[in-house]
Amino acid sequence: MDHIHNITSQELNSKMQFAVQEERRCTVEVLRLLREIERRMVYAELGYPSLFAYCTSELGYSEAAASRRIEAMRAMRETVEIEKKIESGELSLSAVSQARVAIRAHERETKVKVSPEQKKSVILQLSGLSKRAAEKVLVRELPVTLNARPIPERQLSNGGTRLTLELTEDEMAVIEDLRRLQSKIQNTKDLLLNLVRKEVAKRKRELGEVPLIREPKPKANKDAPSAEKLATPPTENARRFSASVKRLAWTNSKSQCEYVSGAGRRCEARHRLEFDHRKPVALGGESSADNARILCREHNILQAVQKLGAPAMAPYRAGLEP
Ligand SMILES: [Zn+2]
Repeated sequence: MDHIHNITSQELNSKMQFAVQEERRCTVEVLRLLREIERRMVYAELGYPSLFAYCTSELGYSEAAASRRIEAMRAMRETVEIEKKIESGELSLSAVSQARVAIRAHERETKVKVSPEQKKSVILQLSGLSKRAAEKVLVRELPVTLNARPIPERQLSNGGTRLTLELTEDEMAVIEDLRRLQSKIQNTKDLLLNLVRKEVAKRKRELGEVPLIREPKPKANKDAPSAEKLATPPTENARRFSASVKRLAWTNSKSQCEYVSGAGRRCEARHRLEFDHRKPVALGGESSADNARILCREHNILQAVQKLGAPAMAPYRAGLEP
């Protein structure tokens, strides 16, 4: 790389242009590979409870970078043009991700599904736009009620953000009510942040995005809840096992998914767990203790696909096939 000190500015610029083009080409390649990893459930095969866990633990992406890539990959799966726009640099991963988040918020609020054509049109409209300009398009195209409109934000020189919150009397009363009901006195900012943190942790657990290893309490005593109590007990697919078989399987598994990859990685999922027949009932497996085990949702599907074949499991894998 020594010679870069000696080349002209023009040469330096053209090298830069070339490198950026390569970078975009690589990004699209990453998204294509990610799509196939998801379709074939390679992340589950390797012992991860979700594509997100694979992206952060195996590939080393930050949580935000992993989310952006997964969102962009799914958008690309739905719309061919998006791939071209990402490769040309017209569409950024964050714009695509921003659009998909807005689409979901709109669907949640209006309870109406956004059509594939409208999704495509909205995402493609963000080509070449800044984050702020994209935000404006999204508010226009996917109108939300006044309350759900983004709160004015201003970036501060110290890297922070200033939010301006205007609340009606009734809205403020809700916050005051919560403050009154909580034993700990908190200012409005801490109160709201703590609610958000709880919600984030809850959603992550539901989506299997965190390893779910609880930090030990600073002063653990024998009354502290055990890992077994903190994990969610298995729910579905349990009909055929007797209560004693289920209890035994639950204890033996230490309330953690029992899938182990070929390389010896055991899945870390402790939530969305299900009872599973090692040898499927469809293939003559019995509901006995030695045929019972605990798997997370993803590994239950993976095992079923491997044993029963993809066509039998297609209803559970909707939208993933090309
Ligand atoms: Zn698992």
